[in-house]
This record gives sequence, structure tokens and C-alpha cells, in this order.
Amino acid sequence: MHKKIAIIGSGFSSLSASCYLAQAGHEVTIYEKNKTVGGRARQLVRDGFTFDMGPSWYWMPDIFEKFFNDFGKKTSDYYQLDKLSPAYKIFFSDDTITIGDCMDDICDEFDRIEPGSARHLRNFISKAQKNYDIAINKVVLRPGLSPLELVTPETALRVDQFFKTISSEVRKKFRNKKLVSTLEFPVLFLGAKPSKTPSFYSFMNYADFGLGTWHPKGGMYEIVKAMKNLAEELGVKIQTESPAIKINVENRKTIGIQANGEDILADVVLSGADYHHSESLLEPKYRQYSEAYWNKKTFAPSSLLFYIGIDKKLENVEHHNLFFDTDFERHANEIYDRPSWPEDPLFYANFPSVTDHSMAPKNSETGFFLIPIATNLTDTPELRNQYFDIVMDRFEKRTGQNIKNNIIFKESFCVNDFVEQYNSYKGNAYGMANTLRQTAFLRPGLKSSKVKNLYFTGQLTVPGPGVPPALISGKLVSQLIDKNI
Ligand SMILES: Cc1cc2nc3c(=O)[nH]c(=O)nc-3n(C[C@H](O)[C@H](O)[C@H](O)COP(=O)(O)OP(=O)(O)OC[C@H]3O[C@@H](n4cnc5c(N)ncnc54)[C@H](O)[C@@H]3O)c2cc1C
Repeated sequence: MHKKIAIIGSGFSSLSASCYLAQAGHEVTIYEKNKTVGGRARQLVRDGFTFDMGPSWYWMPDIFEKFFNDFGKKTSDYYQLDKLSPAYKIFFSDDTITIGDCMDDICDEFDRIEPGSARHLRNFISKAQKNYDIAINKVVLRPGLSPLELVTPETALRVDQFFKTISSEVRKKFRNKKLVSTLEFPVLFLGAKPSKTPSFYSFMNYADFGLGTWHPKGGMYEIVKAMKNLAEELGVKIQTESPAIKINVENRKTIGIQANGEDILADVVLSGADYHHSESLLEPKYRQYSEAYWNKKTFAPSSLLFYIGIDKKLENVEHHNLFFDTDFERHANEIYDRPSWPEDPLFYANFPSVTDHSMAPKNSETGFFLIPIATNLTDTPELRNQYFDIVMDRFEKRTGQNIKNNIIFKESFCVNDFVEQYNSYKGNAYGMANTLRQTAFLRPGLKSSKVKNLYFTGQLTVPGPGVPPALISGKLVSQLIDKNI
């Protein structure tokens, strides 16, 4: 039965779902409020500098490959993927750690910092690899409809790992604080504190050290372009600058959306916009989750971002750089426990032009700085400027070079922009965190329980935040739609 399907939003999850639904023969149209597609992964191009505005870490290349394979394609049909070597560099107050592109190099670095730690690292990553296989190839491919989905012979043998945290596991084997921070970093992508994240999620460490960090030549936006092209090849229609302002319902069944000043009829509506916003497009009686429900949830952080053009080549930096030269625990508390602007922030700096010369003019560098912050903070131009100065001073001190006089332009993006540009709940940058109580069937559902033929996808639902989970979310919801219509 071929249906007319309206999709709200054009983030990775919506693009993914649109491809699967079109492949199944449905008539699919995407309605996106912004001028360009890609959601939080939009691109900024200015004066020859190219910036990915959101995601910049390409992890889990197997998931991207599987997505394109589902359509008889390969990633290489659309973009060139390069493995970064080294993967990234971490700056501490008195040293740096460089993460190589293979376990042998990473082990040497661990032994340099804490003699004997490489042996523990190999054991830790071997366990993480098994978890990756279970999580990514089995558990995550289930739609989060029932607690039983989490019960497999493999997870049953690992129940303890759902009740211990990644922090406690790491601290058992590694004493050096720098190594502890290095191993806790990957789970930050899941949006919660490592001390609140089950140790089963160590599969992120395998994604990091085992599978490596990759870069699509031209930047992450190449993935968006690839998926848009694939969607259009499959017959999906895309309308940009078309915000949905209402989801129409009749007799507890959706009949379409309001967009572009008209009622658009559809048999199925799928929203890939932030879940909270999507439900606000419904009359209150059709919403499944109350304001109190959302307010209680642990959200992934928001971010203060700077996109800067630098008119010289930088020294001592890699493509990805983490500045963990201040107190990790205190900054985490300022994000989750007592939401406030951080006193002494950790930050991330991305210079894609270090490895990809297409991203900046000759003898220049494209720079993207990110400070994770609590959601819903007051966001003013003065605060942004204050943090810009803090970050630039620290960057100059740690890398031993001047940068301030070489900045030829700067743009910023913060809480207010996330709300205004993406209808993001409280200005979250990357969705709802994956904690034990916010995993699988405990997350907002892919299917509305109150309105027939209404579905949701994206980083606030199953499986969670990040680009690879968004691709999977689109696949899961399209399978559910196909099963139910
Ligand atoms: C700064 C930042 C850094 C990140 N870094 C990484 C990283 O390095 N690696 C990684 O894997 N992930 C990263 N992430 C997370 C990743 O980008 C997201 O998890 C993913 O892109 C979310 O995709 P989505 O489809 O769920 O939603 P979104 O990308 O939010 O897409 C939702 C879309 O819906 C549109 N929309 C909203 N309301 C309406 C409406 N009423 N009508 C029509 N359209 C509407 C929005 O404009 C948007 O285009 C990062 C995110 C951010 C913000």
C-alpha cells in the first residue's frame, strides 16, 4: 500500500527515513523550515572558508557504509573518506596526549603517561569491542517498543555493566587523571556525565580507538549532500523555507500538516524536528508528554560555538583538539548539576584545513571552537565575547602562538540560535542524553500513542544523539511505518 508521507525537518534522521520510505514506494515530501537541509549539520561558507556548523567527528564508519549499502550504494559513490592520523590531540595543563590511528600507537602513548597501562587498555578495548558488536549490530536496531528488546543472551551476561558506570570502570584500571579523562571523553557524545553513563557504553571507546576518526573530504556537509542526492534519486521531494506550523488531526488520526499557508494532505506524518517542538504542533489533547515530563529529562548540553577565519597556518594543532587543561568534573557539574556559565571551561577546537586544504584559502586556517554548556542559559552578546576572550587566551597559552591578530572574521552560535534556528528544546545542541533511565524503550517513542499515523524520529527519540544514531533512527521509524500501514 503506497502512501503519501509528509516529513517535518531535514536533519540526518529525516533524510535517512525519507530514503527508506521512498525506496519502499511511498510518495515522500520533506518540509524544512531553514533555507538549506541538514539540520544541525548545516554548513557555513564565508570568504573561501568552509565550516561544518554542527557535527565534525566522523565516527562509526561502518554505520554510514551500511546506510548507503541498503540502497545498493557505497559512501565512496558520494564522498572521499580519509582516516585521520593522528585522530586527535588532547591538551592538558602540563602535557599533551596524541591519539594515533592504531592501537599500537595509542598503547605506546598510554605507556608513556602511565607505565604498564597499555596492557589494561588492550583488555578494556577488547571488552568494548564485544559491547560494540552487541550494541550496534543487535540492540540498537530495535525500535524501543518494549523492555524485552534489551534482553538478549549477550546482554543477559552483561547485566552488571548496565549498573556500573563508565567512570568507575575506567578508574579501576587507570590512575593517571589524563588517561581517565581520555577514556571518559567518548561517552560525552551520549550527552551525559561519564559518572551517570553505564559502563556498557564503553562501546564508544571501541568506536574511538578501534574504528578510528575519519573525515569526509570537504567536511561533514558532504554526508548531507550525499543523502540529499540519494533521497532525490529515490524520488523524495524537498521543500526548504517551509516550516510546518501545525499537525492536522481528525478523529485521532493525522491527516497532514499546515505549511506554506496551506493544509497539506498526507496519510502519514513523520517529524524529525525536536520531539518537544513536534508535539507543540499538535493540540494539547494529542500530546503524549507533558512539560513536566520534558523538564525532568537529562538533556545533552547546549554549546557556545565560534567559527573563525585565520589568515595564517597554525602550529602544534591537529584536525581535532581537546583542551582538557581545566577541571573536567567542575565543568560537568556546571552543565548538569548546577546549570551555570562555566568558570573555567573545557573546550574543543577543530581545524579541518590542517588535513583538508579544500576547507580554507591558501596559508589560512578554518577554526571552529566549541564550549559545551548547560541548556537554557542566558545568552547575550557580552557573554559570548567574554568566553571568546577566555578561549583565545587559553588557546594561545597552550599552543604557544598568537592567533588573536590573525582572525579575519568570527561568527558565533549559542542557545538562542539553537532555539530560533532549529526549534530546539531549551537550546539543546544534541538532543536527549542516553542514561540508563533514558535508554531504548524509556525514551520518547517513535510512534505516537495518541494520534494514528503520526511518527517521530531524531536525537530525542530512539536510539539517541549523534549522526550514526540519527541514520539508524530514520531506518527504525521507516520500518515501523511500513509495518503499521
Ligand atoms: C555543535 C554540535 C556538534 C555535534 N558534534 C557531533 C559530532 O561530532 N559527531 C556526531 O556524530 N554528532 C554530533 N552532533 C550531534 C548530531 O549533529 C545530531 O545528533 C544530529 O545531526 C541530529 O539530527 P536530527 O535529524 O535528529 O535533528 P536535526 O539536525 O536537529 O534536524 C531537525 C530539523 O528539523 C527542522 N525543523 C524544526 N522545526 C521545524 C518545523 N516546524 N518545520 C520544518 N522543519 C523544522 C530543523 O530546522 C532541522 O533542520 C553535534 C551536534 C551539534 C549541534
